[in-house]
Amino acid sequence: MSDIETRLTKLRDEINYHLYRYHTLDDPVISDAEYDHLLNELRTLEEEHPEYITPDSPTQRIGAEPLSIFEKVNHPIPMTSLGNAFDDADMRSWLARIGRILPDGVTVADLEFVVEPKIDGLAIALTYENGLLVRGATRGNGTVGENVTPNIRTIKNIPLRIPAKSNGLEPPQRIEVRGEVYMPIAEFNAFNKAQLEKGDRVYANPRNFAAGSLRQLDSKITAQRPLAFFSYAIGYVEGADIQTQQQALDYLNELGFPVNPDILHTGDMESVLDFIHTWMERRNQLPYDADGAVVKIDSFDLQEQLGVVGNAPRWAIAYKFPAQEATTKLLAVKGNVGRTGQITPYAELEPVNIGGVTVSQATLHNYDDVAKKDIREGDTVVVKRAGDVIPQVVKPILDLRPADSVPVQPPERCPVCDEPTSRQGDDVALFCINAACPAQLVRQIEYFVSRAAMDIEGFGIKIGEQLAVEGLLHDIADIYFLERDQLLGLEGFAEKKADNLLTGIEQSKQQPFDRFITGLGIRYVGSTVSELITAAFPSIDQLSQASQADLESIEGVGPRIAESIVAWFSRPANQALIEKFRQAGVTLASAKPAGGDDTPQSLTGLTFVITGTLPTWSRNDAKEFIEQHGGKVTGSVSKKTDYLVLGENPGSKANKAESLNIPTLDEESLRKLGRTAKSA
Ligand SMILES: [Zn+2]
Repeated sequence: MSDIETRLTKLRDEINYHLYRYHTLDDPVISDAEYDHLLNELRTLEEEHPEYITPDSPTQRIGAEPLSIFEKVNHPIPMTSLGNAFDDADMRSWLARIGRILPDGVTVADLEFVVEPKIDGLAIALTYENGLLVRGATRGNGTVGENVTPNIRTIKNIPLRIPAKSNGLEPPQRIEVRGEVYMPIAEFNAFNKAQLEKGDRVYANPRNFAAGSLRQLDSKITAQRPLAFFSYAIGYVEGADIQTQQQALDYLNELGFPVNPDILHTGDMESVLDFIHTWMERRNQLPYDADGAVVKIDSFDLQEQLGVVGNAPRWAIAYKFPAQEATTKLLAVKGNVGRTGQITPYAELEPVNIGGVTVSQATLHNYDDVAKKDIREGDTVVVKRAGDVIPQVVKPILDLRPADSVPVQPPERCPVCDEPTSRQGDDVALFCINAACPAQLVRQIEYFVSRAAMDIEGFGIKIGEQLAVEGLLHDIADIYFLERDQLLGLEGFAEKKADNLLTGIEQSKQQPFDRFITGLGIRYVGSTVSELITAAFPSIDQLSQASQADLESIEGVGPRIAESIVAWFSRPANQALIEKFRQAGVTLASAKPAGGDDTPQSLTGLTFVITGTLPTWSRNDAKEFIEQHGGKVTGSVSKKTDYLVLGENPGSKANKAESLNIPTLDEESLRKLGRTAKSA
């Protein structure tokens, strides 16, 4: 082997190991920067020596050339489906049935069971030869599936080579690992939220999203979807002696596959049932969508003797959780107005109990979706909720539709301010573009004062709400006309708080022009676009007179963005808003280019992890703040973490930080630390 090959092999092994630490164990041992450094070295070397690129190289996780069709693959051992049980009685009769056909000398009392969560995702089979992932296939019809190997490679907790950790274990000559590809609920909700903001398509549930992502002919798209994997079975293995399901799970774990931590091994059916019931109760707290539990007879020997009936094994059964669906009456379709003015339809429902939770509202995504599903007021509808996913209307029951029902029309006027609504281009999203719309106001204020925009210290969302409710703010420019006496009359405002707020507001008048433009919250105009357009049109007068064509001539500004900017400035109400800012003395033109960054590098050498909801900053704001001050942010807590930035409703990271005695900071103390810690 040449020196280059040796170095490449070492790099790949190292990076694959760190991926395993990060994505499977959630316990990284190096920083993100160190990781990036390794990956960069590998990338550069591979670019220089493409002949040495191997299929297990972590650089291959970004996706490959698009396919025109998926190749069909035969499963050497069919991927069977399972019989179902719907209650405890079904489970007991399953056990009784088995009892009658057990081999001589074995009784029901001798049986051992393994209970696993049934994750609502997609079953796949992964084939490894001498440790190398050579194929990933979907279940398909159980006998024939589809070859989705390039997509499988993009899933970060699927090892490209096993063992994924250096434990001295020799890889088996050949192994087929089975498991479920799924979309974590948090990622699913975040993705849908972002899609809604953009006015793009949303997915009905995590399973559809996982399926749509895994079956992309272009694996580069799959690579951008945060899919995850749990392994739960071995299809076959050559070169290892595995006798029970529990041994199989232990072996998979040893090889570095993710195995669900919530698994019970017991000899007692009552414990099995208890376990399943406990699970059912906490199903809405799980980070994934589980629709049941799978109970398997532990011994492979017994599994074989019990055999298969039809195409379902006798030795396993799926205990299905009660459906998280119900039917109820849709009373009205209403519109909710978001910060960008987007109007999202939602359903008011006759309250209905779904899986122990009373649901009286459900999302309808957008008006095109309502039309496509032909959902109408007065309909009896199927409503679904799963896990933490927002309840949604699945479909109307047409047989029960009242004779006089009419299709839902998208509102022509904003449900809150009664100004005309608009669609931009052929987008599915509907908007209220009145900047003074009260529904948008609080969310606009929150955005205007945020770190990405005017960065007004001490101006949190609660203050924004309070001022709007008290009638002191009617638009975002009113911030600059607040008076000390007005503030002192409010609950919770002592002199110091009022003065600090006013100082922060006063200082924000000097913020760079592009931040001001960002703060206006014009659709599609975030900080990047603001920088581009203020560079081309360095004053508010130039910008507000720019034509669609002028704006489109800026590199990075497309027709959609240009149209949105022109539409915003063409509204008289928005022009009036600009005049108020001008009167207030807010900077409405670009200054000469600033001479370098003078933010103190006070957090240099410190590593932070952020969890939970912070009072005024988004996590991204906090991350930006830390990085601007020279600190580092990583995704999970380890011994190398210096501080945990802790917001409300933190995740498991908080417990981990506590167990490692890592100090925590709230948002305010983080700011303080940024201002006062050692200087670089
Ligand atoms: Zn409105």
